[in-house]
Amino acid sequence: MKRLIRGFFVISFLFLVSCTSSKNNEGISVVTTTNPNYNLVKYIAQDKVDLHNLVFDSDSHNFEVKPEDVKKIEDADVIFYNGLSLDDKVLDFSKDKDKFVRTTKGAELIKIEDHHDESKESYDPHVWLSLKEYKIMGKNVLDKLIELDEENKDFYTKNYNAFVERADTIYNNYKRDFENLVNREFISNHASYNYLARDFSLINSSIYDINNHGEANPQNIQSIIDIIKQKNIKLIVGDEFDSNKELEIISNETGVNYKEVNNLESQGDFFTEYEKLLSSIYDGLK
Ligand SMILES: [Zn+2]
Repeated sequence: MKRLIRGFFVISFLFLVSCTSSKNNEGISVVTTTNPNYNLVKYIAQDKVDLHNLVFDSDSHNFEVKPEDVKKIEDADVIFYNGLSLDDKVLDFSKDKDKFVRTTKGAELIKIEDHHDESKESYDPHVWLSLKEYKIMGKNVLDKLIELDEENKDFYTKNYNAFVERADTIYNNYKRDFENLVNREFISNHASYNYLARDFSLINSSIYDINNHGEANPQNIQSIIDIIKQKNIKLIVGDEFDSNKELEIISNETGVNYKEVNNLESQGDFFTEYEKLLSSIYDGLK
């Protein structure tokens, strides 16, 4: 009897495997470069596409295409990338430029100063941290999926609408909370919160720049400590997946509340982590 049951499981398993692989062979092949783009495809396409993400485990600002990913890029029907100098290197890995879609296209971007080349227009790449702009990124994903796979248009559209509804609900809930705050400024590790700050009328100062570069020398640390004391800042946030040595020094020195958060750059389910992020900032400031 035991053997019979085991046989049944083996057959069921083989049946499942063959179903999954045949479905995947039919679906379009999608590559994403960053965690926010990966989440968009997950929300909108769910299991209708073959999805491969290039960066989960490291800082997106050091984006590199690994040798094992080159073939995936070549074989992909579409590559959703962020652009704005975050992951543009991916463009070098296929001659077929039509299959690259910059998800931040059409978003209301925040201009930044480029210290290396002042004649060049540069923009903050952390667009996903605005729910308003993340919806635009989602629309770019939706449009391309429909263009490639018209047959599933209704499925993608229904999922996109649910995604928009979820983003709006979170935005409206927290907008009300943040409106009542007196203290609106917080300190972070690298300058990734400009879009979130714009959505919720907050102010963010940081040790490192937009690209997570810069020097945390004693003068910089002292100037952040001075800002905290002058403005009576109540919150310091560190990156969950980065080293936060300097922030801990500053927190110890000033006694200011310190929290580690996920800015979604490298991993995590978008809405789950975004809500946690908003709630940490709100709790720290209220
Ligand atoms: Zn960043």
